[in-house]
Amino acid sequence: MLQISDRVSRIAASKTVQIGELALAMQLRGRDVIQLATGEPDFDTPAVIRNAAIDAISRGATRYTPVRGTPEIRAAICRKLSRDNQLHCTDDQIMVTAGAKQALALAIEVLVGARQEVIVPTPYWVSYPEMVKLADGIPVFTPLRADLGYKLSPDDLSRAISARSRVLILNTPGNPAGNVYTREELLSIADVCRRHGIRILSDEIYEKIVFNGRHHSIAACDRRIADLTVTINGCSKAFAMTGWRIGYAAGRADIIAAMAKLAGQRTTCPSSISQAAASAALDCRPGTISDMTDAYRRRRDLMVAGLNAAGIRCRKPAATFYLFADIRNLLGRKYRKQELTSSQDFTMRLLEHAGVAVVPGEAFGAPHHIRLSFAAARKTIEQGIERIAAFIGQLS
Ligand code: PMP
Ligand code: GLU
Repeated sequence: MLQISDRVSRIAASKTVQIGELALAMQLRGRDVIQLATGEPDFDTPAVIRNAAIDAISRGATRYTPVRGTPEIRAAICRKLSRDNQLHCTDDQIMVTAGAKQALALAIEVLVGARQEVIVPTPYWVSYPEMVKLADGIPVFTPLRADLGYKLSPDDLSRAISARSRVLILNTPGNPAGNVYTREELLSIADVCRRHGIRILSDEIYEKIVFNGRHHSIAACDRRIADLTVTINGCSKAFAMTGWRIGYAAGRADIIAAMAKLAGQRTTCPSSISQAAASAALDCRPGTISDMTDAYRRRRDLMVAGLNAAGIRCRKPAATFYLFADIRNLLGRKYRKQELTSSQDFTMRLLEHAGVAVVPGEAFGAPHHIRLSFAAARKTIEQGIERIAAFIGQLS
């Protein structure tokens, strides 16, 4: 009999990935499914970026690159961090990865030892706790309050810290709640981390998709905080490049060197062609992406209005392309005489009977919630809302 290792057996599969794949399989079988689950821009990667990849292929840039990425992309990342984030890094502080996911996983493996604790503000992005468990660490969940905008306070953080704490995972702008921390909030969190020697893993992948307020990088708050922080970002969301798989990490040179040592044994470099495309993306003019953000803002407003009218209470998120809604008022009601027992149950029946894919709150440590992506065409959103409203209309 096939034996799967304990390490892998004890982690959960990614629900965002699973539901996206389930919806796709249903579509391939001929079902008409509205996809509002996976967080993936529906836009094409801008032409200037695609052309840079074609050029790379034509000039034969098809070999291994250094594990940390080509000198060109590392220089482009340094320019980007300095220009957009006031983070001034040297080349040895930068590493390119296969998506931000790989950067996060490598950083966690490098920073977290067996039975050491990682503070995970909750709701969290689906993969953080499982990445921590894979590194033999222990995720410590710190609940965030909806009425406080789903943001970690210094008091909550202090309460979560123990002698075993090593890392805080901070995600701003945040998936799934769309929260954005102010500079002052980041400073007060950084102050607690500094006093306790806690490292910060700052996931900033949604930095370009902000509607209200401004994105700040915690590492830019001051020099001592920069030393404690590994900043993670990537091209998937900002440049509609999910399939190219380019992310990156910036941090202390010794941490980055350890991450590169690990990748050198595991995966070597990310795709050379994707790196060339990403270099062009990082240097492209701001107009290339601001049109997408404007479209997300209009879609957000459309979805919030439609869902509230349909009986799903939700507020406008300040950032990202997700709506995070409390569906407590719908749980316990019946669909075709069967009680809806959990958000997982709600989600599965919505998919099966109404043909709409959304993600259950359980994926983010937040039962009684669902997450919907508005990175979808207007018409898709309108159809999705119509079907959700009809589904809710049939509840008794
Ligand atoms: N962090 C967050 C908060 C995300 O939502 C995602 C999902 N894409 C990632 C990291 C990973 O992104 P990538 O596609 O670059 O691996
Ligand atoms: N990050 C996206 C999401 O939250 C894509 C899927 C994934 O990588 O988890 O839906």
